[in-house]
Amino acid sequence: MDNYISLYIHIPFCKSKCLYCDFTSFDNMNQKMRPYVLALCEEIKQYGEFLYDKKVDTVFIGGGTPTVLPLVLMEKILKTLQESFKFSSSLEFTIESNPGTLNKDMLHLLKENKINRLSIGLQATQNKLLKSIGRIHNLEDFDNNYHLARKIGFKNINVDLIFSLPKQTLKDWASSLEYLVKIEPEHISCYSLIIEEDTPFGKLKSEGRLSEASEDSDRDMYHYARNFLQENKYKHYEISNFSKASFESRHNLNCWEYKPYLAMGLGGHSFFNGERYHNCYDLEKYIDSKGKIEDIKEDIEKIPLAMQYSEYMFLGLRLIEGISIKEFESRFKISFDKLFGDKVKKLVEMQLLIKDGNNIRLSTKGLDLSNIVFAEFLL
Ligand code: SF4
Repeated sequence: MDNYISLYIHIPFCKSKCLYCDFTSFDNMNQKMRPYVLALCEEIKQYGEFLYDKKVDTVFIGGGTPTVLPLVLMEKILKTLQESFKFSSSLEFTIESNPGTLNKDMLHLLKENKINRLSIGLQATQNKLLKSIGRIHNLEDFDNNYHLARKIGFKNINVDLIFSLPKQTLKDWASSLEYLVKIEPEHISCYSLIIEEDTPFGKLKSEGRLSEASEDSDRDMYHYARNFLQENKYKHYEISNFSKASFESRHNLNCWEYKPYLAMGLGGHSFFNGERYHNCYDLEKYIDSKGKIEDIKEDIEKIPLAMQYSEYMFLGLRLIEGISIKEFESRFKISFDKLFGDKVKKLVEMQLLIKDGNNIRLSTKGLDLSNIVFAEFLL
């Protein structure tokens, strides 16, 4: 697969900021959309030349909310991608969107330009909860967008949900999951809310004014989702991700399997040729650079081998099927046992890992305490 690559394209605009969000995204910046897209397309073209001998296996357009762009700008990005890269015949091409930002014209444009996977951020089905976290939409918006996308022919849809929201009950969470199981998206992501410092929720937390979910309630919601979705034929394939058979997110699988990816756009993170770097986070600087890669690359870091071993473990163990010792050894040409034998033995004794011949994976207890496991593999 050395000849294949994954691309991430970042669109840093949203209609308004959600109260928990610390992603690189801005609201009320419509006047910057055009210059941003022009710079982005220049960056895409340069990467296209640089990767002339590679085939693109997955593309993920994320944000922000990519579908807030006007049609003409969206079309420019999609055409530039197609003109700049060779796509593999099994291309997975995803775009993130929010309910209320999809309409007939946008969906047709996406479909006609090779996008074959939609990821929609629903987060919860209770309008009161959606409002309390600053979302721009209600359940009806989602429902309309989802069914319109189906009608227009999208056959691979992911829906994101968040649990442990302030004031969310287990009953709320169960009813969000029930609703999704009824409409049957191919993929469901369930993320636990993380309160980041530089967000309105972070501020409320520091003032002691946020009603945060307890750890026990967080775990109850997670276990509920695991059991309920598995009972309803969704495979739990990664800590936070569930899919119908053969609908795992290939883009994310590539990242968890420690394969290279290149990111274009503001703040995009790349991992290529054993190096990691990210694009600048300053919107003005990005636009002024006119997409010149060398002017926007920051924090270029050659990843030392010891770090590569550790990262391979953290990422691979996120997958429910875990990692193969043979694959680790064939990739790094080093004895797995010498590096990690003692750690694995200890974690198996603690019932956090399961070792099954050539395979190592998190136990059910390990899924809840994955950070402790990952920390053990830091060299
Ligand atoms: S829509 Fe997504 S990126 Fe935009 S503010 Fe909300 S969480 Fe952040």
